[in-house]
Amino acid sequence: MKKRILLILCIIIILFLIILSSAFYLIYIQKLITENTTKNLAELTKQDAIKIENKIEEDIKTLNNICDEILNNNIKTEAEIFNIYDRNSSKSNFTRMGIMHENGETITNDGEIVDLSEEIEYFLRSEDIQVSRSRKSKIDSQEINIYSKCIELNGETVVIMLILETEAYERLFVNSIYSGSGFEYIITAKGEMIANSANQENTKNIYASLKKDIDVKMNQGKIEEMQTEINNKTNGQKILKIYNHNYYFSYAGLDINDWNLLIITPENVIAEELQKVLKISLIIAIVIILAVIIISAYIIASNIKIYNLAYIDPITKLGNYNYFCEQGQKILDSASNANKYVIILDVEKFRSFNKHYGHSVGNSLLIEMGNKLNTIIKNKKMICRLSNDIFGVLIKTNNIEEVAETIFDSLSKIKIKNEQYSLYPVLGIYKCRNNEQILEAIDKASIAHDMVVGDYNKKYCIFDESMESKILEEHQIEEVMYEALENEEFEVYYQPKIDISEEKIVSAEALVRWNRNGKMISPGKFIPLFEKNRFILKLDLYIFEKVCKDIKEWKKENLSFSINISKEHFDTLDFLKQYEDIANKYQINRKQIELEITESASIDVDLANIMKEIREKGFSISLDDFGTGYSSLNMLQDMPIDVLKIDKSFIDKIGNDKIDIIKYIINMAKDLNIKTVAEGVETENQIQYLKNIGCNIVQGYYYSKPLNKLEFKKYVKENQNGVKKRGL
Ligand code: C2E
Ligand code: CA
Ligand code: CA
Repeated sequence: MKKRILLILCIIIILFLIILSSAFYLIYIQKLITENTTKNLAELTKQDAIKIENKIEEDIKTLNNICDEILNNNIKTEAEIFNIYDRNSSKSNFTRMGIMHENGETITNDGEIVDLSEEIEYFLRSEDIQVSRSRKSKIDSQEINIYSKCIELNGETVVIMLILETEAYERLFVNSIYSGSGFEYIITAKGEMIANSANQENTKNIYASLKKDIDVKMNQGKIEEMQTEINNKTNGQKILKIYNHNYYFSYAGLDINDWNLLIITPENVIAEELQKVLKISLIIAIVIILAVIIISAYIIASNIKIYNLAYIDPITKLGNYNYFCEQGQKILDSASNANKYVIILDVEKFRSFNKHYGHSVGNSLLIEMGNKLNTIIKNKKMICRLSNDIFGVLIKTNNIEEVAETIFDSLSKIKIKNEQYSLYPVLGIYKCRNNEQILEAIDKASIAHDMVVGDYNKKYCIFDESMESKILEEHQIEEVMYEALENEEFEVYYQPKIDISEEKIVSAEALVRWNRNGKMISPGKFIPLFEKNRFILKLDLYIFEKVCKDIKEWKKENLSFSINISKEHFDTLDFLKQYEDIANKYQINRKQIELEITESASIDVDLANIMKEIREKGFSISLDDFGTGYSSLNMLQDMPIDVLKIDKSFIDKIGNDKIDIIKYIINMAKDLNIKTVAEGVETENQIQYLKNIGCNIVQGYYYSKPLNKLEFKKYVKENQNGVKKRGL
């Protein structure tokens, strides 16, 4: 669990780092591109400035050349001057030439006369060439710049003017910046517009218009800084925010007047490139993040799957054996004042339940058992399904008896899909010591559990050390039982059954004995164990075959033989085929064989149905130990029984007062056409009583103990003309 949290934490950290580094990467890229753009813009601005300077220089040179020619050639007339202009200006792109006289009258080469008297002062200012600001042509209203120089002509100071359409500068801008997406201006130190690429005729002063559009606060002194730099003709760059969009301002001083070149580029034009890079980066980041998420999800999913496989029981969703051991050990190792107990529990005959009702109902039963355990024991517990129907509980409590009783009572009746099922829970409990090992605790609780299997008088069993020797003994038996079967150590003893009215031996019960190294072990010592470990299935068949062999050998057709068959066989009807095969092998008249079935509390194998099947195959059925189990007389009506064996415990009571019950059983059996056999008859008195109430067949030490094959043969022979009463 902790590992899983750690893993998820790691993945979150990795994701966080990826997102963080992507963000840093993007910021870095943005910064890089901004820097690069600014650098590029600066370079472009410089180049454009040079272009414009060159052009102006060339224009100035043209004007100088014209003036020199006028002066050197002693030109007198305006017509000659215009001629010179025509020759010199072919390569340049002036629109016209003008000659201004001192009174301001200006004559152009294309025959226009314009009055510039208001500007005499400006034009006559110096002998140096002046380049005027942009102005409207008085001739054709075009935006023009005038290159002017004063010369002496015929004793008069005249101004030679070359008129250039401002567009000539603007043409130099075209396509220079980001496919024309940027704006380019020539401005004066004060921001007045000389030329602009966008033909913004209304914009006379760039600062004035910027102040209108710019949120001053957002640009915090940048405009002022720019203005100062432009004023000083210092090259520079600024990023200004206009209407929430960034604009790159790049400017360079021009080598003329107080002119500067200013390039304004909207960021989104530049951002196109940035966005391309960002998009690719973003896609890469998203792909990496997705990959990490998918890989993490996969790792987590397979981790959960591996964890579940290793620790979770798929049916009940409780922990499994591994979980119980690992977590259980931790609980046992932890310090605590409360007593810690391990409970191992299951229900009797779960295998039969499964076979009878199907695995789906079987699984529902397990789930319901888990649910019930969870509701009964709320705190300080761990509940796991260890295997089959075996659950392990580790609990801290100071009243284990109460817990055990509650578990027993609660699991005794379980409802699945509105059907109520009666079960017999088996609980083994072990009180853990300090530093107890969980495996040892499970083993000891299991020993206690095994002690109550098949014991319907106890609800639970708490382990004590003496149980260990019994279990040890059982283990020893289990180690040798297969070998014993192979070595034919199991022998059949026969106990005669006598018809007391005719004083004749009519039948015999086959009883197993284990001849272990010459010592006879009685079935009480090993049958319960063999029923627990299901070795009884093999042993019963073995005894049945031995008896069939003996019947064939003895050829006593007037004698019937009863053979005990454990209920462990009754999960399915498969056993019957094996019994039939053996009977066929020895060509036994099946009427001679009676199968003794013990009635006892157990979950509902459909006993009546099994009996019917047995009977249909021709075997007789004897209900053994009648009266000790849970069946009632009423049940007899529904059961196909040939013989009823009244248990020894009733016979033992003969001579006491309350013995009417035997009489009652016998009468009832008679009505149902069932023969009765009295078991464990030991006294003359019992014989007399049974005779009086009409029970004719008896089995017991009074006539004979179970005898081995030879003894029995001898007994039959000696008593063929009437049984001798022996007494004990
Ligand atoms: P059970 O079927 O009730 O057998 C009768 C038991 O009572 C036998 O004990 C028999 O020796 C004993 N008994 C008979 N008459 C008297 C009497 O007058 N006084 C006393 N005190 N006892 C008497 P056993 O042979 O020790 O068998 C014990 C049980 O073991 C049997 O009880 C039967 O349930 C089981 N068993 C014996 N053989 C087999 C077998 O081959 N297969 C299976 N599944 N169970 C067997
Ligand atoms: Ca019996
Ligand atoms: Ca019996």
